[in-house]
Amino acid sequence: MKNLFEQHESEVRGYCRNFPAVFTTAKGAWMTDQDGRRYLDFFAGAGVMNYGHNPDKLKTVLIEYLQSDGITHTLDMYSSAKRDFIERFQRVILKPRGLDYKMQFPGPTGTNAVEAALKLARKVTAREQVVNFTNAFHGMTLGALAVTGNGFKRAGAGVPLQHTSSLPFCGYMGDGLDTLDYFEAMLKDNGSGLETPAAVILETVQAEGGVNVASTAWLQRLRKITQEHDIVLIVDDIQVGCGRTGKFFSFEEAGITPDIVTLSKSLSGYGIPMALVLIRPDLDQWAPGEHNGTFRGHAPGFITATKALDYWENNGLEMAVMHKSKIVKERLLAMVERLGVKAEVRGRGLIYGVAFEDITLANQVSQACFDAGMVVETAGMQDQVLKLLPSLTISEEDLTLGLDTIEKSLAMVLQRNAGHGTSHHTAKSAQTIETAKTAETAEMAETAETAETADIALISV
Ligand code: PLP
Repeated sequence: MKNLFEQHESEVRGYCRNFPAVFTTAKGAWMTDQDGRRYLDFFAGAGVMNYGHNPDKLKTVLIEYLQSDGITHTLDMYSSAKRDFIERFQRVILKPRGLDYKMQFPGPTGTNAVEAALKLARKVTAREQVVNFTNAFHGMTLGALAVTGNGFKRAGAGVPLQHTSSLPFCGYMGDGLDTLDYFEAMLKDNGSGLETPAAVILETVQAEGGVNVASTAWLQRLRKITQEHDIVLIVDDIQVGCGRTGKFFSFEEAGITPDIVTLSKSLSGYGIPMALVLIRPDLDQWAPGEHNGTFRGHAPGFITATKALDYWENNGLEMAVMHKSKIVKERLLAMVERLGVKAEVRGRGLIYGVAFEDITLANQVSQACFDAGMVVETAGMQDQVLKLLPSLTISEEDLTLGLDTIEKSLAMVLQRNAGHGTSHHTAKSAQTIETAKTAETAEMAETAETAETADIALISV
């Protein structure tokens, strides 16, 4: 019997197939479903809830604003909400970092910010090509999709995705090879077939693409190459900005200054859709209204986004992220070692991936975690990477609880697979999940007893 969502919501729905609970409330690092079951959130809305769910101080200012009949919609007319955000963002984020950017508020999604960045780079350089990298993810509208690697998503476009060239990301060709040698040689050779691009767009840590981390040296070299060839460098910080890697921007650690930066997801700090494009002032050559949209700079988003900058008045959050980062990294490395599983642990700040050699494992572990009351997703072209993305404000206790649950789930999955042969359960269809869930739950209880992991269900209410 199909549930209401399956009956009426489009087949395009995705995450609910892997995490089929009906969520009702959430606080901090926890989400609760309609049956009162609690889930520890190691997903954080794919990077939207960096400050946790419903943070009190943001909620208070939002409620006050709404109760005072604060204006909720102005298109891109001036508002006090926008003024206060611009003023505070300049003062708290840009000025202390010596950054000088004009601020464009595009439509409220990440993909719209990417569209704006690409259009502007093409306009100011009068060039068409944009270079992107293997396994990049920049969004689902046609321009952003054209710089996205995933073949399945690209095929959904239904039209050719053109005027882009995909080059190997840092580490794509293995450790011994600097992929920028290739890019630089191509740029210098008029016979390479690569036109000088308008822009290079990248994520410093590819999140959806499998938690692929660009090294500092690689980022610095890319900045140098783009400068030498007068190419606009766009850093898409939509998922790994707003403190995800420790500092507010993910590129700060490498000491580089991009020409354009895109932000969204955690910018409002409250799950209110909002996006921002930061533009080197001389590149701000838009004609009025040349990239517009109805929901540009949503006033309630400005209200919570302004308050969220409280987190950045000092380096307390950054220090906390770096501390928790160490805990996560050490724990994951120890887990892989202890369980003797072939996997690479990679990440920065509070985005970590466990890339399993057996590509079926990440999905199995994610499902076992869900059954135990935890949400943690997978990433990578084959969903082969277990991707940890807890809120930055998560308590150490909850962080440890989540890591315990992952370890116990992995142990259970490995033991189950050893006993029954490798599972080919990929948990991609609701039907598969339903069947697998019943089987898994029964097996999990059985394994839990033998493996003395009875407390695997410890985070369920
Ligand atoms: N860019 C990056 C790096 C992302 O991770 C995402 C979404 O996951 C996007 C762009 C697209 O953002 P949105 O889904 O809000 O359009």
